[in-house]
Amino acid sequence: MSALHSLQTAAVSIRSVRKVYGDPQTGPVALKHVDLDIRDNEFFTLLGPSGCGKTTLLRMIAGFEFPSAGEILLYGENIADRPPYERPVNTVFQHYALFPHMSIAENLAFGLESHPMGKRLGKTAITQRVSEMLALVQMERFADRRPSQLSGGQQQRVALARALAPHPKVLLLDEPLSALDLKLRQAMREELKSIQAKTGITFIFVTHDQEEALTMSDRIAVLAEGQVQQVGRPSDIYEQPNNRFVADFIGETNFLPAQVETLADDHALLRITGGQLMRAAGREGLHQGAQVTLSIRPERLQLVAPDSPETTPCTLVEQIYLGTDLQYQVSLADGSHLRVRTPNRAGQNQSFVPGQRLGLQFDRESASVLLD
Ligand code: ATP
Repeated sequence: MSALHSLQTAAVSIRSVRKVYGDPQTGPVALKHVDLDIRDNEFFTLLGPSGCGKTTLLRMIAGFEFPSAGEILLYGENIADRPPYERPVNTVFQHYALFPHMSIAENLAFGLESHPMGKRLGKTAITQRVSEMLALVQMERFADRRPSQLSGGQQQRVALARALAPHPKVLLLDEPLSALDLKLRQAMREELKSIQAKTGITFIFVTHDQEEALTMSDRIAVLAEGQVQQVGRPSDIYEQPNNRFVADFIGETNFLPAQVETLADDHALLRITGGQLMRAAGREGLHQGAQVTLSIRPERLQLVAPDSPETTPCTLVEQIYLGTDLQYQVSLADGSHLRVRTPNRAGQNQSFVPGQRLGLQFDRESASVLLD
């Protein structure tokens, strides 16, 4: 398969999928109407708050749940009638579910033997596959140990190796890092990303942790209340959020009312409260004079001397030391509050005192216009 073709093939297509649990008229609606194409070879993340429907979507791809309407295609084939074990898909769960009475190698071998793919493999091939998988997750040294003799992170690696062993085309990962502590979670992020790149298997990763999603994914779908809010690369989602929900859920942001002054083909000039002019990518539906909301990230604002040109007057409310950054809260003349963030560079940050009058400078091209 050529690289181009491989890029264009949808590994998983979700077509107009709706899911209602229980009674179709009165039951809870987990997914309203979802359309998504997940590409072959992609690290794709379903991101959203608790209850948005991400696990439901994952379970439908795995075959543990069925859509109330719509269809799911795997590499172009409708898989509605295929039970979970006949789908070229495997799942890594949050809880590792390893068998405590078996060694690590036995856990992997048993997982393979009970999989339709593994049944075709002879004993020697299974032993070889188990070694390969343990090497992939750097756990060869622990092959003879029992799960209880491993740390949480090591058990998670074994669970990953076990899910990868049958060579699924698509690997589903349901919040697999949430039981690990912060340091381990960060290390595992890099490792997961590198294993995905090495194996070329399509990963569909579910999380409510925006940092996890931003650091690992090729693309992210942000979900809320059973609907996809935006799909894009991490930088698209962070820099150009579609709506208020996405802007607020991914990182921190400031919302500012503004009015459209000029519209060009590819951008708009907008005047924010306080008078500064901002340039943002244009959007359908904008017209001259329209009142809109802008999202501006705290790191795109600077605090300067109050009399500097092209600034908005503000007053410092508080200053918070975050280690890597300093965060300030300032108030504007209309009473609104904004957050400002600067990297903590030795000797370069001025110290301000609450109540001090300052000027606020905006990076002119750092705003995005929100649709609602
Ligand atoms: P979390 O991060 O908390 O796991 P989620 O985004 O994965 O949340 P889902 O588990 O997919 O969300 O649930 C979506 C909605 O469907 C929720 O309102 C939930 O209460 C409901 N739901 C999920 N499973 C069932 C079920 N078996 N029966 C009835 N309602 C369900």
